[in-house]
Amino acid sequence: MDDAREAFADCLHGLAETLRHHRDLGLRSITLSRTPFPDPDDALREQERALQGCTRCKLCQSRTNIAFGSGSGRARLLVVGEGPGEEEDKQAKPFVGRAGQLLTRMLAAVGFERERDCYIANVVKCRPERNRNPEPDEVAACNPFLMAQIDTIHPRVILALGNFAAQTLLGVKDGITKLRGRTYEYRGIILVPTFHPAFLLRNPGQEYKRMAWDDLKLARREYDRLVGVSASPSGPRS
Ligand code: URA
Repeated sequence: MDDAREAFADCLHGLAETLRHHRDLGLRSITLSRTPFPDPDDALREQERALQGCTRCKLCQSRTNIAFGSGSGRARLLVVGEGPGEEEDKQAKPFVGRAGQLLTRMLAAVGFERERDCYIANVVKCRPERNRNPEPDEVAACNPFLMAQIDTIHPRVILALGNFAAQTLLGVKDGITKLRGRTYEYRGIILVPTFHPAFLLRNPGQEYKRMAWDDLKLARREYDRLVGVSASPSGPRS
């Protein structure tokens, strides 16, 4: 902590020196080269643009398009999945295949309209070939882009879908069955882990659906507590 304070003090000292030097040179105004607080949707578009043609990891060889994210930059609910599948790769948009359709219905069941109330992103933005799991170097290469999305959106609640999203964000190795059913604090945001909709499609057992439903209601309660019910006119249906 002391070192961090020292480093910060040095930075401020350097900045003060530079500003005094500019004043002594007769400079009277400060011009910012970038908008200090850009509109979040503009900022996300800019991040997406900057990612085009990315070759930071080997997923660039298997993808057709980058599925950066979709929804509102002002959303208070961020949904994080694993990585694009075939349909997402074609359409350059996360969660538009079968799992995505189920996700849309799951969100609607607790009163969230996905494009209006949510922002949806994945841990990796490019499709792994044959939908294999993303590898650690791929997750690491893409992580700054997920972090930038989180920092831009400032969500109040994150719904983490499946092992990859929950483990990557929480930095743990426990499986989703162990992690789900409760909230976590993640960088000042409430994180709710739940089953991935693709898992629910493969395991149509009632007990998994019931657990996912409980998790969604938990996410909705946390959202209402932190954001206020009035912020979401449709409200929960349960
Ligand atoms: N599965 C995911 O994790 N993300 C998608 O975008 C689609 C399927």
